[in-house]
Amino acid sequence: MSNDIQLTFLGCGDAFGSGGRLNTCFYVNAPSSNFLIDCGASSLIAMQDHGLTSDHVDTILITHFHGDHYGGLPFLLLDAAKQRKRKEPLTIVTPETGQKRIRQLMELLYPGTSSVMDELDLRLKTYKAYQTVATDALKVTGFPVIHSEEAYSHGLRIEVDDRVIGFSGDTCWTDELKSIADSADLLVCECNFFNTVMPNHLDYRTLEEKLPRLSARKIILNHLGDEMLANIDHVELSCADDGMTINM
Ligand SMILES: [Zn+2]
Repeated sequence: MSNDIQLTFLGCGDAFGSGGRLNTCFYVNAPSSNFLIDCGASSLIAMQDHGLTSDHVDTILITHFHGDHYGGLPFLLLDAAKQRKRKEPLTIVTPETGQKRIRQLMELLYPGTSSVMDELDLRLKTYKAYQTVATDALKVTGFPVIHSEEAYSHGLRIEVDDRVIGFSGDTCWTDELKSIADSADLLVCECNFFNTVMPNHLDYRTLEEKLPRLSARKIILNHLGDEMLANIDHVELSCADDGMTINM
């Protein structure tokens, strides 16, 4: 297998900046597409730190409407329109209601700027549960997960070139994770807690018990909170770090 796809964890932290980690944002550099998986509030800062701007991204995939997963979009869209004067299309794939929510978010953070959404050549696509949405280079399937109904929470299964990347999004254990991970080359799985069982996030002890059900070739944990970070010496699965790159 050639190592021609790289996934970089620009941010792998939780909503609270635990451990000084940045909000969720992964950059995938593949032959057919350079894309982001989630775009949390700190994403543009993380991108700049890696020499990346909105110009280096053709597509952005969003798992749910929480600030640590989509709050970076206004900064990135403003950068694209005003700083980079972007002419190339930019595809954004979100759960339903994405267009309205991104527009509202821009108006809240930078009043009067939602018109950049009309200036840019934005290709907004939405997915429903179990539906596969195709972009020029990707096939993206959304799976409903258990986190926040109001935020339209999903996990994603992403096909790019000949690889499959699964991402849990934010969720407690759900059997949907089996489908997201099914023979995937990589599963990035949230693991917010170590042994505290929560109704909307995963903990390491539960994940450990369910692990035989996940058939991904490689699993990396992200979204680690303080409790996970304090117990990291007892964790036998790989954990993401901000700036870490995986070759696939
Ligand atoms: Zn989150």
